[in-house]
Amino acid sequence: MIYKTRTMPNELKALQSLDKRLSRHHEKKYIIQKELYAIQAGYAGELEFDAYMTDFNPDYPYAILNDLYLQNNRIYFQIDALLITPSTIIVIEVKNYAEKTVITENPMQFIKTYKNGDRKARPNVINEVKRKIRHLQKWLIKKGIRTPIDGLITFANTNELSIESTNLEMKILSNDEAPTYLESLPIQPQSLNEKTIKKVARELAKHHKEFNPFPISKRYGIKPSEIQPGVLCPSCQQIGMKWRTEKWNCPCSYHDKHAHLHTIEEWFMLIQPTITNREFRQFSKQPNPNVARTLLKKSNLIQHGERRGIHYKQQKITNT
Ligand SMILES: [Zn+2]
Repeated sequence: MIYKTRTMPNELKALQSLDKRLSRHHEKKYIIQKELYAIQAGYAGELEFDAYMTDFNPDYPYAILNDLYLQNNRIYFQIDALLITPSTIIVIEVKNYAEKTVITENPMQFIKTYKNGDRKARPNVINEVKRKIRHLQKWLIKKGIRTPIDGLITFANTNELSIESTNLEMKILSNDEAPTYLESLPIQPQSLNEKTIKKVARELAKHHKEFNPFPISKRYGIKPSEIQPGVLCPSCQQIGMKWRTEKWNCPCSYHDKHAHLHTIEEWFMLIQPTITNREFRQFSKQPNPNVARTLLKKSNLIQHGERRGIHYKQQKITNT
């Protein structure tokens, strides 16, 4: 059973928004798009993994948690997918790289290989997973849970992979091979019974933290004034809807009563965690303060302060 599903990462949502609102001549445009494509590819790889895992149907009791973000003391660690079986917990890392990866022996390295033959070392994914295993082990021991933890690395099916090393410490597969491999895992000796597996899964899901990279403009040193204001049209994806006759209208002829809700969400992702009437008017390019007040009040926000000090905040992001 799946105890935590995967949703689009906050970082990806924020980068998509920032990319749309940053001029193509902006000096950081290249960096933003590079990060955006890498995160987008990573997420696509994870969705592909999930799609293959719908076939996963082992004979043993199990729990799956996707995209888990945990904290151990001051250290945060993220796990793409976690499988709990009666004998082990498997930390699964899903990769989706544009360039070919060669895994060499002596020294064991992950080498990014370009079409023109250039080679560049990537971070060692096995060490990355070992680090996560170590933190998860400590986290579980604190909760009184002792069970062996293993790692599994999977690559998106379209990835070109060449494994030259013959004694890898961790299993490396492509996404489509994962369900069969995981179904065939030995489940003896058993350290967790069905009831404990459920308990551990619920405990992990309860402690999942939503990764909050907001406001993302700060991370890249982009000033709010460099971010293009305006309401984004959900249909043609252009910025510049106009509030007329009680709704947002786009030159593409699409109209939407609630298009500002996404604009407000973008403000919080990109700029800062509070918004005033004036800031909303500037960002939505809708100049009427009364309309702004009405829209803000109906946007499921929390109001703080009084009179001229009134500002709004988002409801607390709850764990999903
Ligand atoms: Zn439009």
